[in-house]
Amino acid sequence: MQFSDFGLDSALMSTIEHMGFSEPTQIQQQAIPAAMAGHDLIASSKTGSGKTLAFIIPALQRLNKNRALSKRDPRVVILTPTRELAKQVFSQLRLFTSNTQYKAVLILGGENFNDQVKVLQKEPEFIVATPGRLADHLTQGHFHLNGLELLILDEADRMLDLGFSKELTQINNAADHRKRQTLLFSATLDHAQVNDFAKELLKKPKRVAIESAHTEHEDITKRFYLADNLTQKEALLQHFLVTEKSQQIIIFTATRSDTERLAKLLTEQDLNAVALSGELNQGQRNQIMDSFSKGQHKILVTTDLASRGLDLINVSHVINFDMPKHTEEFVHRIGRTGRAGTKGDAISLVGPNDWLSFKNVEAFLQQKIAFTKVEGIKVKFKGLKPKKPKAIKAKDNVVQNKKPVANKPRKVIKKTFLDIEDAGAMKIIKRKKLTPDQIEDATKKEQD
Ligand code: ADP
Ligand code: MG
Repeated sequence: MQFSDFGLDSALMSTIEHMGFSEPTQIQQQAIPAAMAGHDLIASSKTGSGKTLAFIIPALQRLNKNRALSKRDPRVVILTPTRELAKQVFSQLRLFTSNTQYKAVLILGGENFNDQVKVLQKEPEFIVATPGRLADHLTQGHFHLNGLELLILDEADRMLDLGFSKELTQINNAADHRKRQTLLFSATLDHAQVNDFAKELLKKPKRVAIESAHTEHEDITKRFYLADNLTQKEALLQHFLVTEKSQQIIIFTATRSDTERLAKLLTEQDLNAVALSGELNQGQRNQIMDSFSKGQHKILVTTDLASRGLDLINVSHVINFDMPKHTEEFVHRIGRTGRAGTKGDAISLVGPNDWLSFKNVEAFLQQKIAFTKVEGIKVKFKGLKPKKPKAIKAKDNVVQNKKPVANKPRKVIKKTFLDIEDAGAMKIIKRKKLTPDQIEDATKKEQD
């Protein structure tokens, strides 16, 4: 199949040709005609398989073919969970809009609010945004969504994980009319929370799933290594940095402070490493991402802030210095390599603190994972045994002359989103038990 088979208009076709693409990827082959036919979509395919164009192309085609419902309101809103991803999607979109009459704007948290008000006053057709900031502008009446034709949620599940459901609902309600079309995209869309939300947002959606998130990504070679402790993880990392034939490398850690510490350690060894975390201001975040994508740094040390969507074509290796606490992020982290048909390596270090996350990943991937060893690094840790429930003995219930009491479960103090420092430091929690307000307060600071 060729792009020309979609019946796209000529300006769109010439941009696609200019990008050097002739054959649509599998997700594009299925999602583009379904979206062009006006269906709402829940679309998933593996990382690096071209989902961005699978929503940008039908969006432009719809604008070209249909008359605007309103002269003032945006016609397409694209939302992403992180600012870095929004910037990337925006730059792809700009390739299509720069030689048209359409205006496209980027509205991100962490940037000047008043400048954004001015930009919104120009009545752009396209808005690419992170949900928190866009919802703020909507609340303050800086734009309206009565004329919105397409609402696109990239990495939809992550936005829900980060607690943006309130903002998404607000945006959805402001654009609630029968001509509104909604598209949800991600590599991992099969958890219950997404389904519940999809029911609220989408009308008779079509599901386009190229393969499930559990399917092996044939371009990414995964290797897992056990480690006794932090020192041993560092020794393993040193080993890989010396022995692996690599281009650029992304190292994921559990917390923000670890990114700083590790990047400093590597820099002291004359390695060209930078740390990216949500703690930095937006200018610093932009600068780090720009210079890394231009190849000015060899190594990016980061948290799950960078796990989603980023398309950095020279990343040959992803190293999970710590395993992700949110299981799906494993698929997204390693998906920063092996993109658009290139090959990549994903190395994961598993210490005692990672064991539970590792077992969750193993279950998610539906495969038994074997560990690789490095010669000269002696590891004693062999994994943790699942804890057996303690047998209840009759005498445990008898305290002197008192009557036996029911065996009360110990009170477990759970960490919630309120305790997290960063998306990367999230505990695995039952998401539904939190109130939307709790989630929102804790996460907006970081990711909007
Ligand atoms: P995903 O969102 O599925 O992770 P992206 O949309 O970021 O993937 O695309 C991954 C890479 O594939 C990008 O570099 C993009 O330019 C490239 N790409 C997109 N469509 C095609 C295509 N039809 N043929 C070849 N490469 C493509
Ligand atoms: Mg993507």
